[in-house]
Amino acid sequence: MNVPLLDLQAQFQSIRHELLPSIEAVCEEQGFVLGPRVACLEQAIGKYAGTAHAVGVASGSDALLLSLMALGVEPGDEIVTTPFTFFSTTGVISRLRAIPVFVDIQPDTFNLDPGQLAAAITDRTKAIIPVHLFGQCADMEKIIHIAMSRNIPVVEDACQAIGAARNGVRAGGVGTTGCFSFFPSKNLGGFGDGGMITTHDESLADRLRALRVHGSRSDYHHHLIGMNSRLDALQAAVLQVKLKYLDQWTEKRRGNAKGYQRLFERAGLLDRVTLPAVEQANYHVYNQFTIRTSKRDQLSTYLTEHGIGNKIYYPVPLHLQECYQVLGYEKGRFPVSEQAAQEVLSLPIYPELSDEQQGYVVQTIKAFFDAC
Ligand SMILES: *Cc1c(COP(=O)(O)O)cnc(C)c1O
Repeated sequence: MNVPLLDLQAQFQSIRHELLPSIEAVCEEQGFVLGPRVACLEQAIGKYAGTAHAVGVASGSDALLLSLMALGVEPGDEIVTTPFTFFSTTGVISRLRAIPVFVDIQPDTFNLDPGQLAAAITDRTKAIIPVHLFGQCADMEKIIHIAMSRNIPVVEDACQAIGAARNGVRAGGVGTTGCFSFFPSKNLGGFGDGGMITTHDESLADRLRALRVHGSRSDYHHHLIGMNSRLDALQAAVLQVKLKYLDQWTEKRRGNAKGYQRLFERAGLLDRVTLPAVEQANYHVYNQFTIRTSKRDQLSTYLTEHGIGNKIYYPVPLHLQECYQVLGYEKGRFPVSEQAAQEVLSLPIYPELSDEQQGYVVQTIKAFFDAC
């Protein structure tokens, strides 16, 4: 049996009858960059995240970059974040010649440990970027409390977490800005790159709208120094169709997570692997279903040999990346992140995953541990 890590083909086939006419309509209109379809999607995503404003941009990375630009981040400013995330979270900090300052994660949720946050803040801290990793919100109450008491903006990296919620508040709806990615492998994926920034702050939204078009508010008059980072009408046409299905896809992902829990338990594997822990307050949307085991590398190879897609998100924490040796962090500095990087393995969790496929994944993992 073959079980891919993600099956975008299955999703496409289920809604092609809606997607193709939507794409065709854009072809007939011949309006490709921003425009009414993007405006419509912005409204829908703002409503979905619970913010008054949403600004479509070219990618999740640009959503983060533009957020920092709009907040006036300058060279030498410090931005506090987690070392256990996708590179983009800190790449954008470095592009502005600001400095990523890392705080270790909590071992159970893989999210920034708020207990270590205050100690990382200095008078040069310009923003905090919590990441809602794998689809589960970071501890926003504690993070926002610490940030507000020091008047520091919070940029939510919600790229993996559209639809996730904590105490009933959706990801991207609590920080100063929320950053979403429509990269095809995210829970709401376009047919290419795309992103969105959500915010409650009208003047910030206005700056963001200018910054994504070279800092101009009217043609050829540049108030700010911006960039070219816009969302395409074709992406909006695809995403508008997919957004209608997002909640039911999310429920399927959550059902699959429950299925894994049951199957791993029944197979007697709960002392061999650690399944994802979900905090009581959280509604997890499982962009990834990430288990931990000390036999990670061998298990990964075994699963691949047996036709089961799997991937290590992420094998090297950011403070140990070659390009960040200049930051001067030693190995051992963030032990929880470093251990997670040795032990994590993500398994197929996509909505169309069948019971048979899921059973096969767990059976194969059982066979692996029985043999070792
Ligand atoms: C995907 C992702 C990004 C970047 O999004 P792109 O659209 O690929 O630029 C940023 N942060 C995290 C945590 C992500 O998973």
